[in-house]
Amino acid sequence: MPKLIAANWKENPRTESLALKLFEDIEKIKHSKKTEMVICPPFIYLERLAEIHRRDKNTHVALGAQDVFWEDKGPYTGEVGPQMLRSIGVSYVIIGHSERRKGLKETDAMINKKIKLALTDGLNVILCVGEAFTIRKGGVAVAERFVADQLKRDLAGIGASARGAKQNRGKIVIAYEPIWAIGTGRYDDPQDARAMASFIKKVLYQYYRLKPSVLYGGSVTGRNVEDYVQYKEIDGALVGGASLKAGEFKKIITVVEKIK
Ligand code: PEP
Repeated sequence: MPKLIAANWKENPRTESLALKLFEDIEKIKHSKKTEMVICPPFIYLERLAEIHRRDKNTHVALGAQDVFWEDKGPYTGEVGPQMLRSIGVSYVIIGHSERRKGLKETDAMINKKIKLALTDGLNVILCVGEAFTIRKGGVAVAERFVADQLKRDLAGIGASARGAKQNRGKIVIAYEPIWAIGTGRYDDPQDARAMASFIKKVLYQYYRLKPSVLYGGSVTGRNVEDYVQYKEIDGALVGGASLKAGEFKKIITVVEKIK
């Protein structure tokens, strides 16, 4: 199975021309089918990047959004639905990032509704889960319990809705992102991340009969990516800061390509 490297640009870069340049540089990174890249820029740049994306028939780079709404149309000022994203060629969406959970008070119930519609409409969902440092201080087992509860709330009813949807159903990818490792330069012990990835897979199979890919996220760079993705339990990485520099992102892809 290819390793999935997803880039979360967050609210960056500041202008469209910088976004186009970054995307073009990333598209030039040589990689084989062993690596799948997903670039998640701000909404405002998606349409232009999708245009470039459509022109390059050989690209292995997919486009993702950083959020989506739980209705496809209607009186919801400021929102963007999954069908709109699909219509311009977006195939992935990040849902439940800790920055949205904390800063924008996004709840598990909201996340659950977003996941349900996104999957039904055929978007692949990258669901972010992970514990705060106060929880992790209690040990890995405490963090596992927290993550299991988060998964159960976020994915409540997903098995049933997944079976109910007849076509175009997207897949679920889980990004395990310990909150204390996001954008801080601190990263998880690779063995702990491996154990958590394996735990997440066990929980999802047990409750939903799902076999998701599990990514690690939290201060991933070209220097440490191998420490995580070398393990079969970790199917890739969600990369924030390091995805904003094409050179650093290239290092990550080059390292991932060399993993057997
Ligand atoms: C993220 O925002 O999902 C992330 C992992 O950020 P960073 O790589 O900068 O820690």
